[in-house]
Amino acid sequence: MILGLLLCLALTGAGFSSAYNARPRLVVVIVIDQFRGDYLERYRDQWGEGGFRLLLDHGADFTDCNYDYANTRTAPGHATLLTGAYTNGHGIIANEWWDPQKKATVAAADDDQTKLVGVPGGAPGASPHNLLADTLGDELKLATQGKSRVFGIALKDRASVLPAGFAADGAYWIDRATGAWITSTYYRNQLPKWAQDFNDSKRTEKYLNQDWKDSQGNVLRSTKPVEGKTGNFYDVVGSTPLANDYELEFARELITYEKLGNGPATDLLILSLSANDILGHKVGPDSPEMQAMAMAMDRQLAGFFEFLGHQIGLANVWIALSADHGVAPLPKAAAALHLPAANVPGDKMRAQINSRLSARFSHAAEYVKALDYPVAWLNPDAFAAARVNEPDAERDVGEALQQAGLRAYYTRSQLERGDAPNTELGLKYLHSYSPLGGWYVLGVPPPFIVGFMGGTDHATPYTYDTHVPLAFYGFPFQAGTYRTHAEPVDLAATLASLLGINAPTHSIGRVLTEALAPPHRALNSIHGLDDRGMPTVDGRDFRPEGPRAGSTMARGPR
Ligand SMILES: [Zn+2]
Repeated sequence: MILGLLLCLALTGAGFSSAYNARPRLVVVIVIDQFRGDYLERYRDQWGEGGFRLLLDHGADFTDCNYDYANTRTAPGHATLLTGAYTNGHGIIANEWWDPQKKATVAAADDDQTKLVGVPGGAPGASPHNLLADTLGDELKLATQGKSRVFGIALKDRASVLPAGFAADGAYWIDRATGAWITSTYYRNQLPKWAQDFNDSKRTEKYLNQDWKDSQGNVLRSTKPVEGKTGNFYDVVGSTPLANDYELEFARELITYEKLGNGPATDLLILSLSANDILGHKVGPDSPEMQAMAMAMDRQLAGFFEFLGHQIGLANVWIALSADHGVAPLPKAAAALHLPAANVPGDKMRAQINSRLSARFSHAAEYVKALDYPVAWLNPDAFAAARVNEPDAERDVGEALQQAGLRAYYTRSQLERGDAPNTELGLKYLHSYSPLGGWYVLGVPPPFIVGFMGGTDHATPYTYDTHVPLAFYGFPFQAGTYRTHAEPVDLAATLASLLGINAPTHSIGRVLTEALAPPHRALNSIHGLDDRGMPTVDGRDFRPEGPRAGSTMARGPR
């Protein structure tokens, strides 16, 4: 039945496509939080029909996509994917930073000019106001004079608000204690009726007190709330596939009630699935739980794609899939294979550095306010009291970081001047520079060292953190496996070009032309269907001839 629907829509949907004539009707960008680039390949023979394989078999799959910066965290990753720029363009350097003016730690999407909507209490809300660049959604809104509708959904505010951009119609995330879907007054003063009804129907209850079992029936985790704590939905449900079901249930309601894909121009939905990251930090990428999570996600995505087929017709939808960052192997697991891996206590490191500097300046103070390993956030007031200026302060902290085991460091004042060695690694740190967040030092950690004592992490320039999937499904793409150079910034650049709109303001991405279907083909067939509407499997391996296409050095600093 879906195939029939696809064929019917393929015939009517042929011709020039752009955001202006609602071809495609909907673009869905799926970001899986902490989904490393090797997972799609690792479990390739285990994926079922219609989930990841929709993209792998019938889409364009870039197997070698890497972030070209060092600060591989959630907020910068989501900002990068939809702005087509790195931190030196969009400004989002971390999930949280020390703000010397406010004398407080602020989170990337925090905005005290706004209030949360959907929970009582009027707590400060969230907005994209820290972004220094606009997004794909903003350009869609500009190009269509607001006719396109743009939404973001995630469990985390930063993963919903930042990729959706300034002009978004809505961004939704959850209240961590109760699981209720919330937004902020930046978007609206009350939840739309459908979202309020969703919360009122107490759907969180069906996700609590459940056992998550693997295919053999073994219980991997349970979602029983911790005794004595009210709620804590985010931690309890968030570290199981039930969280993806919960998010996808909300996404289906949003698509249905906001009538996405039914407007006069192309609509955009950014859906960030957070559960992988919440579990991955605890158990590491090589654990049976993470494999079971990936297998569950494959089925969940298949169900979601089927929903899109029924609701809008897959011939009218483009899908892009990527991730905000990868993850380091669990140090214990890597050390067992004789790699130089370890957990180190980042919090103790901060205390050590502060006592060293207190002794050196003969004045006890919190010189380093926060150490989000391997990044140190400095306290300008403490250094001012010791009559130390920013470059000297940052150098002192950098040297203390080196003494604590980091390999090297880059200071804010150094990166602001563009002063980094002309190497691949130097370029990654130039791409990590932001004018936001006061004084800071980016430490260069040794590989496989994780800056806290339990579990694992991501925040390094190494491939285990930079390698992410990048795959596209839809009318303009030539199905295949592409091993050419690709970066997450290419996602926004490619989609903007295909939609016939400007790329986001600071985009440095490349249009992935090797993955585009020839024009005659776009007129006559769609992926997964041949000219007669029969399913095809087009999975040929694409290898360009000659030198590596689009290599970083050939393109100069970016
Ligand atoms: Zn994470």
